[in-house]
Amino acid sequence: MRKEKLSFIGISLLIFSFTLTSCSKSDNATEIDASTEGSVSVTSTVQSKYTTAVAISTSGNTITLKSNGTPNHLSPYWGVGKPQYEAPRTGYTVNPGIISEHTLAMTIPTNPASATIKEETALGAIGMALNGVPIYNDREGGNVPVDAMILTSFDRGGAHVGPSGYHYHVSGEFTTTDDANLVGFLRDGFPIYGRKDKDGTYPTNLDAYGGHTSVTADFPTGIYHYHCSNVNYLNAGVYILKSGSYYGTKGTFTN
Ligand SMILES: [Zn+2]
Ligand SMILES: [Zn+2]
Repeated sequence: MRKEKLSFIGISLLIFSFTLTSCSKSDNATEIDASTEGSVSVTSTVQSKYTTAVAISTSGNTITLKSNGTPNHLSPYWGVGKPQYEAPRTGYTVNPGIISEHTLAMTIPTNPASATIKEETALGAIGMALNGVPIYNDREGGNVPVDAMILTSFDRGGAHVGPSGYHYHVSGEFTTTDDANLVGFLRDGFPIYGRKDKDGTYPTNLDAYGGHTSVTADFPTGIYHYHCSNVNYLNAGVYILKSGSYYGTKGTFTN
């Protein structure tokens, strides 16, 4: 009896250690060597994923994306009478001002790489969504975090109009909700995705910048990429697209 028990423990240990070994093996297989950073070009994905509203040109080691910053979807911010106008949702109050055309240009590196010193994102455009609309961080004028009051000014896209025009702050129905959608690229050239990874799971190893290096639908060999925050912001059912510092070195964004 005792011998049987011992051999059972022995076999269990054997199985346990085998499971451990095979787990770490499969982890290693999907893990991307961080030293490959800077070797992945984003050019073809930028060219294929942005809508035709965004003009893309390359020069040397940079890509420039130009748009007029107007969305390709419904919003109360179009203004009453416009074809893409829709009424604000119940309980929401739009900011003054309507969607207007701007002359936006974002320049990013073709081969984004980690920056030695990480720079905080600031007020204003920190990236561009695939439809040419600027992405902002979690701050508003006065550099205060988006609060409950500001949340009520957002449309279904998680956007509103400010002094510099229409922009996204949080997740929304036209960019990402609970998925692995490619939202756009930030000024450092790295892509930003929804809350999930390609395999449908929520990443659990995000760094202080809200990203990690792994494969994505657009980069099958792996790339550093940001994810939309997975924190239900102020319990409002929306998720901050990006806060904190850039992972790479930011390019220019003119408005
Ligand atoms: Zn804003
Ligand atoms: Zn990911």
